[in-house]
Amino acid sequence: MTDAQGGSLAAAFRRLIANTGPISVMHYMGEANARYYASRDPLGAAGDFVTAPEISQMFGELIGLWMADIWLRAGQPDAVHYVELGPGRGTLARDALRAAKRFGFAPQVHLVEGSPVLRAVQAGAVPGAIWHDDLSTVPANGAMLLIANEFLDALPVRQSVLTAQGWRERMVGLDEDRFVPIAGGRPMDAAIPAERRTAPEGAIIESCPGAAATLHEVAGRLTVQGGAALFIDYGYDRVQYGSTLQAVQAHRKVDPFTDPGTADLTALVDFETLAQVAASHGARWLGTVEQGAWLQAMGIDARAQALCRSAPEHADLIRSARDRLVEPAQMGRLFKVMGLASPTWPDGAGF
Ligand code: SAH
Repeated sequence: MTDAQGGSLAAAFRRLIANTGPISVMHYMGEANARYYASRDPLGAAGDFVTAPEISQMFGELIGLWMADIWLRAGQPDAVHYVELGPGRGTLARDALRAAKRFGFAPQVHLVEGSPVLRAVQAGAVPGAIWHDDLSTVPANGAMLLIANEFLDALPVRQSVLTAQGWRERMVGLDEDRFVPIAGGRPMDAAIPAERRTAPEGAIIESCPGAAATLHEVAGRLTVQGGAALFIDYGYDRVQYGSTLQAVQAHRKVDPFTDPGTADLTALVDFETLAQVAASHGARWLGTVEQGAWLQAMGIDARAQALCRSAPEHADLIRSARDRLVEPAQMGRLFKVMGLASPTWPDGAGF
């Protein structure tokens, strides 16, 4: 990958580190992903990774039904926005909106997307959508039904590591030409929650300020505007120690510290902390459940059977897509679905 000056991001990082010292893991991950997503469509068999909406139309359809159902039971407010964070190819939005339309759900569509390459792909899938760089320009009136699938995991994490001298920010330095994670010099103890400070030497704590800020903003809007939200990602529902930073390229795990900007960097999502952030800003936490259980509660098995009946020649593909989304050894357990709602809205299905 080359930058405006014709150099790779790795070369730019090497110059920066040589001149000013190590950079934080958060800085490294943020710049690497900004470069990565701005320059390509990474999704699909020919790309680097495959997401749930790209596996089967059933995924987006069930999300559309979830939205239509809660909207109907909230009294079908006319002023309503569909908002999606990081919509990828727009496949989820297309499938969800098609399924929800049958129930009279016809929202304005707002897509929050940073990548110009992906915006162009989304424009083909979702005619009439309005794009935003971040949530701040999404209308502040009217109810909001918001969905984010594999968005939070792409936001940069800050890592702290426990050394003999105390907690330090985890940084990226240089060993010859190679990027290596090292402990920084500045004490971080005050930034670590008191109940987590005591740990074995070498323990790592991750936090994701961008995810917390997103949940803060979404929760505040749900409270004021009304509506509901689904956050789907791979993550954990109890806080834990350890680095979960990983890089994927051409469907294989690669070293996150090799060639920044050319692989997708992700970290597991800390759903426990994000639920607390949302609740402390007024939203109602509906629950955090495993993706497999949620899809089954939403009726994926009946939907798969119906699709098999109408296209028997694709029955094997439909069944294997269902298994990929639902089975615990595939995406069913690692991926979680977190639901949030306005305090004045009803409960959501599947929690
Ligand atoms: N939700 C899609 C795509 C997931 S990939 C799917 O499930 O297929 C992550 C998406 O988030 C991409 O669309 C990427 O461009 C977008 N993204 C990543 N970081 C972002 C940021 N900081 N601001 C806006 N969009 C971002």
